[in-house]
Amino acid sequence: MYDVIIVGAGPAGSTAALYAHRLGLNCILLDKAVFPRDKICGDALSGKSVRLMRELNLLEGVEELEGSEINRITFGSPSHSQFDVHLKGNKNNDYITKGYVVPRKIFDNFLFKKADELTETRQGFMVNDIIYQNDNISGVKGTNIEGKEEILNAPVIMGCDGANSIIARKLGLYEMDMENTAVAIRCYYEGVEGLSNQIELHYVSEVKPGYFWLFPAGNGKANIGIGLSKNDAKKEDRTLRQIMDEIVQSDYFRSRFGNARPLEKPVGWNLPLGRIQRKNHGNGFMLLGDAAGLVDPFTGEGIGNAMVAAKHAMQVASKAKNHKDYSERSFSEYDQLLWDDIGGELRTSTKLQSLARSSFLLNFVINRAARNEEVQSIISGMLSHEIPKDELSSPMFYLKILLS
Ligand SMILES: Cc1cc2nc3c(=O)[nH]c(=O)nc-3n(C[C@H](O)[C@H](O)[C@H](O)COP(=O)(O)OP(=O)(O)OC[C@H]3O[C@@H](n4cnc5c(N)ncnc54)[C@H](O)[C@@H]3O)c2cc1C
Repeated sequence: MYDVIIVGAGPAGSTAALYAHRLGLNCILLDKAVFPRDKICGDALSGKSVRLMRELNLLEGVEELEGSEINRITFGSPSHSQFDVHLKGNKNNDYITKGYVVPRKIFDNFLFKKADELTETRQGFMVNDIIYQNDNISGVKGTNIEGKEEILNAPVIMGCDGANSIIARKLGLYEMDMENTAVAIRCYYEGVEGLSNQIELHYVSEVKPGYFWLFPAGNGKANIGIGLSKNDAKKEDRTLRQIMDEIVQSDYFRSRFGNARPLEKPVGWNLPLGRIQRKNHGNGFMLLGDAAGLVDPFTGEGIGNAMVAAKHAMQVASKAKNHKDYSERSFSEYDQLLWDDIGGELRTSTKLQSLARSSFLLNFVINRAARNEEVQSIISGMLSHEIPKDELSSPMFYLKILLS
């Protein structure tokens, strides 16, 4: 009998296991995959992820991983003006001074290994059902690495099993609606010119509303990709691969890809966006990370929010154990803490995602920022300080830009 069963060992699950250890909870971490395993992603670890890794004393380890250190973010507009936000050496920037791009095959393996040092884990364990005793959750049923069915018991289950969460499905909370889900493709390349310590987000007209990313993934490799809302992707008569080819071969990018070679066929996956507040708890369970639909609608980042969710969920699980109260009411505190923490930012990002539909606005802001240090510094302050991006969606921000 464990205190908590964590289903899925991506960033949400492995982080949850690390917090469980800190709180003295006896948990087991399960994943259907055997690590190291790939996860389709842009591989960028920014503000929030860095903050939590620091809190968990993981940063030194992350710095040693194959990947790139990031201290600059480049924003490109539909008309191809661009500006850089420097994460280092900026007066507004005394908090987050760097980010990282680490291929998920490496990063998730690192996190999983850290969790494995401290808690019980099972790889190759495919959870396929939830089990109940007297209407209360009492564990999960799954197929272990030897192909045998096994039952594990705990009064609390954490669904950290990603965008297609079996736990969310079994509990009737799975939502994959077109409006609140995005789809993105990734492709690793080698030989792309002009990679350095910056991540690049280009709001190009070929993929509207969405962006083309170009990240240095370490060892001379690049992680490139594009993402669109499911609704917008459905309206397209081009596939995402065709759109990405168009961008790579466009006048603006062609020279950088002259000697480049894709290292794989582009691969895609869904991103459940945090555009709406979902219910992510109930009698004996909580949903975390992509299973809870926490991806930032504007930036497409989900690792940081998955890690934040892990911290809150484990604190609530610890309280539940102390009070021997595994009721829905007890776990409602999780949704409350989570939304108090990231709800404001998700709401702002939802507004920004809508604003980014306008090429005019994107050109306006990015052109101004390219020419004006004050605007650069406002945006840089917002990104590095992690202050709510609210200002970005307020009319005052645009007035300030107009007057600057
Ligand atoms: C193309 C793309 C680009 C992205 N770029 C970025 C980025 O640059 N930065 C960023 O922060 N975010 C990015 N994201 C989002 C990010 O990948 C996710 O938000 C993040 O992986 C969520 O972590 P998670 O732990 O919730 O789920 P996952 O990372 O999906 O992990 C879920 C785990 O559950 C396991 N699992 C699933 N089903 C079962 C089962 N039945 N039994 C046992 N185990 C199971 C899986 O094997 C997996 O290991 C991107 C997403 C996509 C698709």
